[in-house]
Amino acid sequence: MIPAPDTRADRVAEAVAAAGLDVAIVGDLVRPGDSIRDSMADVAWLTGFGGTSGTVVIGPDVRIFVTDFRYTDLAADTVPQSFRIVDATADILEEVASHLTGKAGIEPAKTSMETHGKLLEAIDEGVELVAIENLLTDLRRVKDRAEVEAIAAAAALTDEVYAWIEERGLAGRTERDVALAAEEKMRELGAEGPSFPSIVAAGANGALPHAVPGDRVIGTGEYVTIDMGAIVDGYCSDCTRTFVEGEPDPAQKQVYDLVLASQLAALDAIRAGANGRAVDAISREPIAEAGYGERFGHGLGHGVGIEVHEPPRLSKRSEDTLLAGDVVTVEPGIYIPGEFGVRIEDLVVVTEDGCRNLSSRPK
Ligand code: ZN
Ligand code: ZN
Repeated sequence: MIPAPDTRADRVAEAVAAAGLDVAIVGDLVRPGDSIRDSMADVAWLTGFGGTSGTVVIGPDVRIFVTDFRYTDLAADTVPQSFRIVDATADILEEVASHLTGKAGIEPAKTSMETHGKLLEAIDEGVELVAIENLLTDLRRVKDRAEVEAIAAAAALTDEVYAWIEERGLAGRTERDVALAAEEKMRELGAEGPSFPSIVAAGANGALPHAVPGDRVIGTGEYVTIDMGAIVDGYCSDCTRTFVEGEPDPAQKQVYDLVLASQLAALDAIRAGANGRAVDAISREPIAEAGYGERFGHGLGHGVGIEVHEPPRLSKRSEDTLLAGDVVTVEPGIYIPGEFGVRIEDLVVVTEDGCRNLSSRPK
């Protein structure tokens, strides 16, 4: 993880106060002490901590970072000094509960019923658990310069893997072989790992947007959709290209050109102030005009950061307005069941008058 500036804790403390709370718990209250990477995203953003056991109690007058002995050294090295690091020798939830005062915010979407029950038993009289939604969501959304550079590095590394894949060739290999080799190459180039399980989908499998790579051997003249990303410095990238070795038939070529036209129109429409629903609608125009509207069944794009899927959304139901510093994907696709699919995805940073494209591979 890249270091977290102390200003983030100040902003969260302000948000806690603005919500009428004395403190809030930030962290994974589904599996406290044994979390998976994504569920630690709030803590990672707030503190720069890259481990999987860390729960924060934060408010205008308190900054406590609760972890266990496995992570006390890492926490001391990475968590800003304004936090007091506490080694929970007995139970993490009991330790967290002992630091709660007054109205204490917890996020239901990140809390299991079991944890909620245990917390209720452990809190002092006079402490009230209050449900809050998305305490850090808006704060995490716009990326600062260091975050953008981490995402750009992850995108550049993914581009390097794409170049290597092309050089190595696709026809004659299985989808699984390509996916495994790509992930190994990512790590070889310095990635912490893939940001999600890589998708390699050949021929008819390409009509499944989230196909799982299998033993299908990639043939010449058929489309192969590869969707992958890397994690660098705690931040994700996400990029899709659709390849063909040999000549695609005219029907395939027509669909590819439509998806590309859609993607270029959407890229052109992206700027601060643009509406996520409007940009999504622009991307659908060329596809719908050609009669493939029903074959583009997912949203145009999503935010990317510590998690590979974050706000804002570019979709039919989006209520987000793009802000300078948002990092979003632009990924239209057409999927013809039983035949083939095409998706093209770039990762861009929204700017005042357009966007900076972090994905550089040819389309
Ligand atoms: Zn993707
Ligand atoms: Zn994506």
